[in-house]
Amino acid sequence: VEECFEDLTPHIFALETGLSSDPPMNWRVSALDRYTLVSNSDAHSPQKLAREANILDTEPSYDAIFNAIRTGDPQRFLGTIEFFPEEGKYHYDGHRKCGIVWDPKTTIAHHGICPVCGKPVTVGVMHRVEELADRPEGVPKPNALPYYSLIPLPEVLGELLGVGATSKRVQKEYERLLARLGSEIAILMDIPLEEIAAVGGERLAEGIGRMRRGEVTVIPGYDGEYGIIRVFEDKGQRSITPLAGTLFEMENYKLQKEKDIEASRPQVAEPTAPEAAYKAQAPAETHETPPPSSLFNFQSSNLQFLSDLHLNAAQAEAVRTVDRPLLIVAGPGTGKTLTLTARIAYLIAEQGVAPEHVLAITFTNKAAQEMAERLAHLLGEDVARRVTVKTFHAFGAMVLRTYGERLGISPDFVILTEEERRELLRRAVPELSARRADAALDAISRHRVESYRLKVAGGDAAALEGSPESSSPAHRSSTFDLPSLTTAYIRALREANALDYDDLILLTLQLLEEHPDVLAALQSRYRWISVDEYQDVNYAQYRLLRLLTAGGANIAAIGDPDQAIYGFRGADRTFFLRFQEDYPDAAVVRLTQNYRSAQAILDAATQVINKAPNRKEAARLFAQFVNDVKLEIYPAPTDRAEAEYVVHQIERMVGGTSYFSIDSGRVEDEGPVVRGFGDFAVLYRLRSLVVPLLEAFDRMGIPYQTVGTTPWTAHPVVRRALERLREYDLTWEGLAVRDIVAQVREELVAARDLDDAARARLNTLVEAAPADRKGPEALREFLDEVVLRSETDFYDPRADRVALMTLHAAKGLEFPVVFIVGVEEGILPYLPEGKEADVEEERRLFYVGMTRAREKLILTHARRRHLYGRTVEHMPSRFLDDIEAALKEIRRMEGKRKKRRQPEAEQLSLLDLL
Ligand code: ATP
Ligand code: MG
Repeated sequence: VEECFEDLTPHIFALETGLSSDPPMNWRVSALDRYTLVSNSDAHSPQKLAREANILDTEPSYDAIFNAIRTGDPQRFLGTIEFFPEEGKYHYDGHRKCGIVWDPKTTIAHHGICPVCGKPVTVGVMHRVEELADRPEGVPKPNALPYYSLIPLPEVLGELLGVGATSKRVQKEYERLLARLGSEIAILMDIPLEEIAAVGGERLAEGIGRMRRGEVTVIPGYDGEYGIIRVFEDKGQRSITPLAGTLFEMENYKLQKEKDIEASRPQVAEPTAPEAAYKAQAPAETHETPPPSSLFNFQSSNLQFLSDLHLNAAQAEAVRTVDRPLLIVAGPGTGKTLTLTARIAYLIAEQGVAPEHVLAITFTNKAAQEMAERLAHLLGEDVARRVTVKTFHAFGAMVLRTYGERLGISPDFVILTEEERRELLRRAVPELSARRADAALDAISRHRVESYRLKVAGGDAAALEGSPESSSPAHRSSTFDLPSLTTAYIRALREANALDYDDLILLTLQLLEEHPDVLAALQSRYRWISVDEYQDVNYAQYRLLRLLTAGGANIAAIGDPDQAIYGFRGADRTFFLRFQEDYPDAAVVRLTQNYRSAQAILDAATQVINKAPNRKEAARLFAQFVNDVKLEIYPAPTDRAEAEYVVHQIERMVGGTSYFSIDSGRVEDEGPVVRGFGDFAVLYRLRSLVVPLLEAFDRMGIPYQTVGTTPWTAHPVVRRALERLREYDLTWEGLAVRDIVAQVREELVAARDLDDAARARLNTLVEAAPADRKGPEALREFLDEVVLRSETDFYDPRADRVALMTLHAAKGLEFPVVFIVGVEEGILPYLPEGKEADVEEERRLFYVGMTRAREKLILTHARRRHLYGRTVEHMPSRFLDDIEAALKEIRRMEGKRKKRRQPEAEQLSLLDLL
């Protein structure tokens, strides 16, 4: 008994002296060397049992355990498990009120007196150790046994989810992980990180990996304040984004972040290409060859800004892969666009690439603008401005304004809006009805690209090679005499000195093919080419990229074949799929960690996409956030009831849980969620579905913005302004573009009685115009930009309004709460009468829509609705059946409710919230 007692003494000793059982601490006291240090939890709460433990490899008998401890035989007593002692409330010394935190040595140097209040500081555990220690820090005692510092899994999860370790969310996820992976100790210590990633997501695996390697941030406790141990933050002082923080803290955090980024901005290579324009250069111009990629650690580089982006391992790999063509294949919300932007910043800042050599192609002007802003943030405005970030069309327009004369195109050509195209076609072919004109334009467009493809086919096998998707019946039209229609249309365009969108690509191609010096100039200018949304390029765009990269430029293509939704316009995802054949030495990076949506939303979305026939590989996406919110499905009797439901739900959710939870009796454990109108999007397949929604929104006075409903340039006042501006370009000199646009605004305002909306549109136009540029060229550039803006470009994410938009327009965007209305057979999938539908493209479109949601996804369908002047009856969409029942929560039809809602109370609640 005595022997036993003696061997257990260290722990008792530790408790008595106020030392924890932490080995390194006890190593400092040589009097303890002859003891085997064991580690035990103080069992004041059941969850904390075994938080500290001993690892023994013996048979589970008293004698065996006793002997292992007594002898300290490293074959049998394998070591101890500890939690971080720094977490304790009295680890270091200090004064909380005075903001003084000291390690023991500092305290001793100050004779224990707080310099702020002059009173003795509260001394902590380490101080006591320091007093007893007769061995320097960091020197292990002889025969020291290993020890493992762990962070309890609920605390890791709490940090990951941004909620308390004891919250219900953490509890749920904790139990799920235990059920899937095994015991907590096994998860923390043994289970391979890939397995953890597969069940709990990459970020969890990353956190556990860091903990295992001891890469944690430790902020010791002092004077009654708990210490902080973090796995996801590597710089002690910069705390985690204050999720629950006040607005003030949030602002400070942002300010600090801005400062950090500002301070870390890198030096950038001087331009090696001409600064001003890029008129044809001697192709002999020197340019850098892509350097070999080196093992590179963001943390250790001067690229602070890149580590601030917190790229995960796969994203970082993509950023660093610059010595080969690169394909990033990844699902929605995995940070593709972010990675592409980071890679460009890396090229310029770290690899010394001159910004002039970089071309980034985006899908919309809005995306281009966002990428440019992001680059300006990372690299500074002056550097970012030197990078070319454009859509295919804007790029074509730029090239043709510069070199178009070689093809006989006057540099003052006009780019037609969709409406102007339609009118031009109807003037050229008067027998065409207005209704058929749109379909005819689509058909002409595809026909032109297809003819081009056939023309090239002679010399280029790729042009003919299998493209089942673009030649499917859905993409052919047999009702027009296409060739002659196309000829008439093109003749009319040329007579009007006008170009349409297709011209911008097709004529650029012709230029590059017929004028090798122009091609050479562009090839030597753009050495680094990145393309976002590559799954949606069409043949002409594909060909343009092939020509541009044929001189050895480095290409990075990013996309997701599951999100290809523009087949109806001739986009062809087979180009994406054949990237590796086109660029055989390409590196392929896959991203699976989703940073956007809750797991339930991802699960449902991937279930839908995985039901696609002939699918080779199942899509899998792992959320960073886990929550147990289910998809809501609301079956409405009519389209009006559906709109009513949407409006009502938004009204309930705005203003946070206080209102919501009182109303519904539900309290969410993550605390109050304060939502603004800008957090919501209502998405629909067809523009005409917006009608009942607008009625309902107007009735309830909920602010909204519609996107993709009426193209901006179709508004009469915008059209008139554009017409006037086009007349100006050669006659007016001396004024800045914005002044000219403002003049036109005054003219139009004086000439007619404009309503508020029309005035607002004119103001938007004036504001968009550059105030510091003059001359016809600047004016033309501005007009190109206005005309080329797509519908999505007018979505303003900063406005506190509900966004109503088509599923197509929502591509690439994200919202906390998403409604998709009209999830019905006939609408989604859209099954137009008399035409063949592409159900698989519709499936992808639904997938795109679902994956826009961050926290909440609500799908609605109506049994009866008015559509194109008729009343139709629809069944729920087949896609809903692809989602397992466990993920869906079907809401009751509100139509059945007897009790009428009280309009007054409703009104009041809304006013309160505003
Ligand atoms: P889509 O397919 O819809 O275009 P995407 O793959 O381009 O999606 P992004 O829009 O780049 O995804 O990123 C989605 C969201 O995830 C953004 O809010 C982005 O800021 C965030 N995000 C991306 N990578 C990270 C990361 N490493 N850490 C934290 N957030 C990230
Ligand atoms: Mg994107």
